[in-house]
Amino acid sequence: MDALKCDLLIVGGGAAGLRAAVAAVGVQPDLDIVVVSKVYPMRSHTVSAEGGTAAVLRDYDSHDLHCFDTIRGSDYLADQDAVELFVDTAPKEVLQLEHWGCPWSRDRDGRISVRAFGGMSVKRTVFASDKTGFHMLHSLFQHSLRFARIRRFDEWFVTSLLVDDGKCVGVTGLDLATGRIQPILAKSVMLCTGGGGKIFPFTTNGNIKTGDGMAMAYRAGAPLKDMEFVQYHPTGLPGTGILITEASRGEGGYLFNREGERFLERYIPGKMELGPRDILSRAIISERQAGRAFEDRHGEYVHLDLTHLGEKVINEKLPFVRELASKYVGIDPVYQPIPVRPVVHYMMGGVSTANDGSTPLEGLYAAGEVACVTINGANRLGSNSLTECLVFGGFAGEAAARHAQSTGLVDSGRVRAAARKEEQRIEQGFLHREDGTERISGLRGEMQTAMEKGCGVYRTRDSLLETTRELAELRERFADVRIDDRGKVFNTDLVAALELDFMLDVARCIAGAALTREESRGAQARVDFPERDDEQFLHHQLSLISEEGPRLETQPVTITRWAPEERKY
Ligand SMILES: Cc1cc2nc3c(=O)[nH]c(=O)nc-3n(C[C@H](O)[C@H](O)[C@H](O)COP(=O)(O)OP(=O)(O)OC[C@H]3O[C@@H](n4cnc5c(N)ncnc54)[C@H](O)[C@@H]3O)c2cc1C
Repeated sequence: MDALKCDLLIVGGGAAGLRAAVAAVGVQPDLDIVVVSKVYPMRSHTVSAEGGTAAVLRDYDSHDLHCFDTIRGSDYLADQDAVELFVDTAPKEVLQLEHWGCPWSRDRDGRISVRAFGGMSVKRTVFASDKTGFHMLHSLFQHSLRFARIRRFDEWFVTSLLVDDGKCVGVTGLDLATGRIQPILAKSVMLCTGGGGKIFPFTTNGNIKTGDGMAMAYRAGAPLKDMEFVQYHPTGLPGTGILITEASRGEGGYLFNREGERFLERYIPGKMELGPRDILSRAIISERQAGRAFEDRHGEYVHLDLTHLGEKVINEKLPFVRELASKYVGIDPVYQPIPVRPVVHYMMGGVSTANDGSTPLEGLYAAGEVACVTINGANRLGSNSLTECLVFGGFAGEAAARHAQSTGLVDSGRVRAAARKEEQRIEQGFLHREDGTERISGLRGEMQTAMEKGCGVYRTRDSLLETTRELAELRERFADVRIDDRGKVFNTDLVAALELDFMLDVARCIAGAALTREESRGAQARVDFPERDDEQFLHHQLSLISEEGPRLETQPVTITRWAPEERKY
């Protein structure tokens, strides 16, 4: 079995992965860097980000205010040292990205435009029309092409981390074009694999967001942090889950119920449509429960009304919203309100990292949505995530590069044997087995339903126990999974099986952590424990692998200057 080798291996070609690669070159220009991605990098989920990226660029704004908004938004579960570092570095990153070619939208006076976003006290979200992620990823990708030392393995699927003697020493990768499975050995490995919205049935996330990196880190013994916090975005299109960006409310859109009321008056009068996502999602569900939502064959929804903004503003600032609404629900937002409902959007939790992206597993780094640093705590504010990819992608890329300088490649018999074992697991467990009876799509659907039912916006002890039981049963049935395609070339059936395998582990961690957190905080709304309980639960939860499923440990929250107080808007 041949092994490929490099100094730094980055898994993921989205905003975090590409930013990290460029940062690593800055540390050592001749470092041999490989970026592996299961899709061509420009197809990473970052490309679909719409609304914007937050940074303090205006005189009326301040470092402390952005910190406070983020910490309050997180329901006081963010690590405040990480937030301070994040807010400090954000403006530099946003300006640098412009120098790398990102076409930020501008005001008439030439300044970079900023818009309002949920939970932010002032306008500080920088944007490129409503295709911010597309432009950011393009700029990062094109900039990365300047460096010959950044090699790319596009359309390679990473299946596991290779660990030797307590160190991460590489990965096993499946070259999708040939079906070959090979070890890729590296001095440092970095996960930038994004989130896992596809664990749920109704999500804004692309199909590739299956939590692969979280599951691989967990299996390799690295802890996952704060997995219980899954963000619902209040405004997805019914039917598809396609996102209608928060920028539509930032630019002045209103939410109405069936009775024509701006119902947020009842829930968050101080902020209305510019409230944070967890509160708005719960408000919409409460309206549904009170019988004040609209209903059609796609279920219950409320209206997002942009008609008062006028055609000019919509075309200039929200052209993609107009396009999506007309293509996917057949309405023109210049004249009609858009039907919307809460939809799974983002995972606050992930691979536990320090501020430099390092994990407790030596040699392993993580950044972007797969990681939990944590600046998002129990609820992320919209537009902080793209900035997080830039800031912590940059720091992690530098730290991983320095680690690679300080250590050698490990290419031992043990590592080769572990890679061969992984190859056998895939060949015998999936490709060559004849007796499987369970269908991937069936198990996946049942997992998604179990997650939404018991571990969705509202949770109780009973619902979580039931979900955990269902997940354990699905895990057993997965052992009997059957794939139809036995081919070597672009075997998407095999990829779907491996992704489901990952999702089942991540789902277990989410449900397990939600069960032990007996309080309501941010995105975790426990009906049986409706209050936040700082005395018992002002801590992170780490999920560690064990024979019986995830084992939980706690970790203190770092508080620097903002003492926890009631989260009021
Ligand atoms: C529709 C939508 C709109 C959004 N809008 C905004 C916004 O306006 N502002 C904001 O701040 N945030 C927004 N977000 C969130 C934000 O876009 C993401 O959190 C962020 O882009 C994640 O970037 P990333 O680099 O961590 O991962 P991604 O961009 O998801 O990239 C993951 C990479 O990992 C690779 N990968 C994954 N698994 C494997 C594997 N097993 N083997 C090999 N490669 C693998 C993929 O190929 C991909 O290249 C939005 C999210 C969505 C879904």
